[in-house]
Amino acid sequence: MLEGIATSAVCGTTSALISRSIGVCKRCLVESEKGLEVAISNHRRLRSEFGLPPEPPRTKGGLPCNLCAANCVIGEGEAGYCGIRGVGNGRLWSLSTTEQGLLHYYLDPHVTNCCNAWWCPAATGCGYPRYAVTSGPEVGHFNLALFFYGCSFNCLFCQNWTHKVLSCGKRVSARELVELTLSNPRITCWCWFGWSPEPQLPFALNASRLLVESKGERVCRICWEWNGDGHPALVRRAAELSQVTCGNVKFDLKAFDGRVHVALTGMSNRRTLENFELVCREFFDARPEPPVLGATTLLVPHYVDAEEVSRIAEFIASIDDRIPYSLLVFHPDFRMDDVPVTPERQVWECYRAARRHLKRVNVGNLHLLYWPAGIRPLA
Ligand code: SF4
Ligand code: SF4
Ligand SMILES: [Zn+2]
Repeated sequence: MLEGIATSAVCGTTSALISRSIGVCKRCLVESEKGLEVAISNHRRLRSEFGLPPEPPRTKGGLPCNLCAANCVIGEGEAGYCGIRGVGNGRLWSLSTTEQGLLHYYLDPHVTNCCNAWWCPAATGCGYPRYAVTSGPEVGHFNLALFFYGCSFNCLFCQNWTHKVLSCGKRVSARELVELTLSNPRITCWCWFGWSPEPQLPFALNASRLLVESKGERVCRICWEWNGDGHPALVRRAAELSQVTCGNVKFDLKAFDGRVHVALTGMSNRRTLENFELVCREFFDARPEPPVLGATTLLVPHYVDAEEVSRIAEFIASIDDRIPYSLLVFHPDFRMDDVPVTPERQVWECYRAARRHLKRVNVGNLHLLYWPAGIRPLA
């Protein structure tokens, strides 16, 4: 709920764009140790409300999990940062295996609001007839949206925060997803997303592989929408599946400055940036059209400003300036429901900053700019 002006706990600046969930302004985050400490302590408090570990465990003598960059070392009776894995009776347990995942799925009619739909085969027909079922938008067809529980980040603006409640997830087998798809020729893509897929990548990879092996020549693209901090070997396998099916990998690059990233998500962006570069370098030239990957950034008011976007765009362009980049207008959600929709001026400053470096830039959720103040749009 929008509650007016907040005060930065370090410098005392007041602004309607400072979120109480972070507690300080961007400048304090970047320039002061105290500023980052305030933000981190807010993350710890939030996670304890959901019964999740405040930070990745590093328990001496514990068992390691390296599925994502959290690299948890989990002691007896503890859970990993995502809550999907843990240790009991001296053994690693997991709510997700290669055969069974913890998720929710639904059919999303094309053209979906997928953040890469502005250039992908489902919306444009590019790749027809081998990778799209029509030469234009695939109206009358569906994306199978595969929406995981459990995440390796702790984003304060998460639209899917209810997926922190792992007990609400449904156990779904890989075979169930494949059979559902084979029996419905109107499903033309799978998108793994929700809470980010990294803690359940072994399941997602296995189900995707089974589909690719059994679908024959049929169009069904495999796509990923993630925070990108998975183990590089798994990220590479995911990108391979996208490449052979003409799907794509959507990296959410939430901030470039490491401290701003930690304040927004609770975690570092280092692995995400490394994996983004890995997928570009290993896969982009083999299939530049339609691209095998794209990047998105949510324009969080005040914190993800033109400077952040410029640095992200410069980073992407240093690898290849043809990579599509989508800027998304923010709307209040979860713990950042106390700040407004991205100010219009910030949106266009960010757009111009991105265009200085990249050839293909899109702004998504533009309709949000015209919502009356105080009215909360549907997610
Ligand atoms: S999941 Fe992939 S193919 Fe489907 S709409 Fe999104 S980007 Fe397009
Ligand atoms: S998947 Fe990541 S967050 Fe979860 S237990 Fe493993 S290393 Fe930790
Ligand atoms: Zn400040």
